[in-house]
Amino acid sequence: MDPESERRQRLYRVSAIVLKRREQGEADRLLTVMTRDRGKLTLLAKGVRKPASRKAGHIEPFTYVELLVAKGKSLDLVTQAETLEAHRALREDLWRSSWAYYVVELADAFTQDEDPNALFFDLVLETLGRLNAGVDPALAVRYYELHLLSLVGYQPQLFRCVQCDAPLQPEVNFLSLERGGALCPSHGSHHPETIALPVPVLKVLRFMQTRPWEQVAQLQLSPAVSRQVESILARYIVYHLERTLRSPAFLEKLRAMLARTKMVNAEETANGESNGEAALSINDENAPG
Ligand SMILES: [Zn+2]
Repeated sequence: MDPESERRQRLYRVSAIVLKRREQGEADRLLTVMTRDRGKLTLLAKGVRKPASRKAGHIEPFTYVELLVAKGKSLDLVTQAETLEAHRALREDLWRSSWAYYVVELADAFTQDEDPNALFFDLVLETLGRLNAGVDPALAVRYYELHLLSLVGYQPQLFRCVQCDAPLQPEVNFLSLERGGALCPSHGSHHPETIALPVPVLKVLRFMQTRPWEQVAQLQLSPAVSRQVESILARYIVYHLERTLRSPAFLEKLRAMLARTKMVNAEETANGESNGEAALSINDENAPG
């Protein structure tokens, strides 16, 4: 093989979302990226912390970037980078940044190296795009959580009792983390491990699981229902991440978030405003049933 074609064989091109980066040596960075075709990769970007680096601006967190990569002995090297979507608002606005960090941390935690999942990749990219465009971040992220669970094989069953298979009735039902879905009152209510699913909370979860984003974006949730949905999804995610033993540091953060949510819920209960049923409004003729 002539040297030129040998060189070309060692190069490959990927479209990637930058999930995280860390410093390496004096001037280099290690990047964790998610790609559509090759899954998650760890790449070395040499010299990017030097002021004159042309690659540096393209490989910030949350950017969607096209990379030309050279196969290396241990790590593959980024040789060229070109921005496809900068998602600039996600870095300039601290509030949106924090949501975006959560999105990429979940993407990192729920993927293995070199195990591509194109639909999951598309979901991450769409979610970052929505956050960047300024949609209600809580809705975008809840939608993301529910859909990523489906895409990685942990879709919660929200329509039938996972024990008796009976369709759930409009009453307080229960969620079993362990069994990955809802239980009817006769199978869930006496179980210490289950979480109560009030009617409006189950409605919102089902709606988000089955409707396209354009409809979910129209939802207006009361703060109480919004927090209950957040807390239930966080517990569900922690449970399934823990079982697969991924990302312990991230789990710590999620647990801290969960503790804060619990504190807020407890305060609300103390103030007698925990039932958000009346404030739920779904701006859609075909409200979820
Ligand atoms: Zn049942």
